[in-house]
Amino acid sequence: MTTHLMNTYARQPIAFVRGEGAWLWDEAGKRYLDAVAGVAVNGLGHAHPKLVRAIAEQAASVIHTSNLYRVPRQEALADRLCALSGMDKAFFCNSGCEANEAAIKLARLYGHGKGIEVPTIIVMEKAFHGRTMATLTATGSRKIQAGFEPLLTGFARVPYNDIEAVRQVAEHNKNVVAVLLEVVQGEGGVNVLAPDYLADLRAICDAHGWLLMLDEVQTGIGRTGTWFGFQHSGVMPDVMALAKGLGSGVPIGACLARGAAAEVFKPGNHGSTFGGNPLACAAALATLEAIESEGLLDNARARGEAIRAGLRSALTGVHGIVEIRGEGMMIGIELDRPCGELVGVARDAGVLINVTADKVIRLVPPLIYGDAEVAALVDAVSAIVKNYLQQAA
Ligand SMILES: *Cc1c(COP(=O)(O)O)cnc(C)c1O
Repeated sequence: MTTHLMNTYARQPIAFVRGEGAWLWDEAGKRYLDAVAGVAVNGLGHAHPKLVRAIAEQAASVIHTSNLYRVPRQEALADRLCALSGMDKAFFCNSGCEANEAAIKLARLYGHGKGIEVPTIIVMEKAFHGRTMATLTATGSRKIQAGFEPLLTGFARVPYNDIEAVRQVAEHNKNVVAVLLEVVQGEGGVNVLAPDYLADLRAICDAHGWLLMLDEVQTGIGRTGTWFGFQHSGVMPDVMALAKGLGSGVPIGACLARGAAAEVFKPGNHGSTFGGNPLACAAALATLEAIESEGLLDNARARGEAIRAGLRSALTGVHGIVEIRGEGMMIGIELDRPCGELVGVARDAGVLINVTADKVIRLVPPLIYGDAEVAALVDAVSAIVKNYLQQAA
């Protein structure tokens, strides 16, 4: 292994050389069932023919031309995303943290426009919004922030899923301009919002003129079984951040906005050299097209339910299981103890899984899973978890 990479990741000691659908092969030719999907990125699985063709064709014409000129693919992608979401306008960038960074800048500019000099954004405990200075400040994890002080000002934190805490802030803090949250917390442990929470939050935002800003970087693009996570609730956000699944692995992020929020940025306020380039937009358009034409939203909903049902029937009553939860193809198994070592155990068994928030096994498979993959994942994961909990008992 090279010593010339900065030591930012605890990498697993394998490399993949080939992928097809929900499966990956390592250098030794061993096959793995993928339930990580490049961290909720590869919704179409690996080497999807339509995606491969779209990228190859775009690369053969123009890859990048800059935002000094019109980019027809970017315009088409903005149209498509707005039609699917009900939002009005899109700004394109290259990653999730940049999409949130755009949302945060937009909220601050919106606040200043109303004469609020210290615009403040309400954020959640256990939130994850990225690793840039603004987004790590918004993130609700001391581990991610420690050592990077001074953090930014202009954020107020409340517990996730606690609408009373938001009401308290509304009463006392007249500088609030927006609320930023995930509809299902990903890195924070696959935490799902209570059914009425978003509607209640929308009402508070409307009463105070705040922007409701959703970080759908992980939950967007079919991950939860609808195009966007907010569509389970019927509540519309004012601002939405997207990235992960949008380009199926070709880096692209987007900040969408609606109504007054869509008119906040003016020329010179924000930008990105690569953002929304023809290659990334071609990958995103092909991703959206494949999700629609292959019925992958329904598939994600049904397969996600089947995985949760399978895990529940195998694991309910097993001592050490706290909860099995999630939405669509975002699945969390919370244990009563740290379980990071299960990533290696599963890998040896030919299954790629992830553990987050110490005690939560996170499964974010490609949206294309069929019956065979569902059964293989449920069998492997439940056996590994049972064995681990019984061993340790
Ligand atoms: C992954 C993630 C981010 C950060 O995305 P990057 O592309 O790594 O910057 C932000 N928010 C959520 C909810 C995420 O899951």
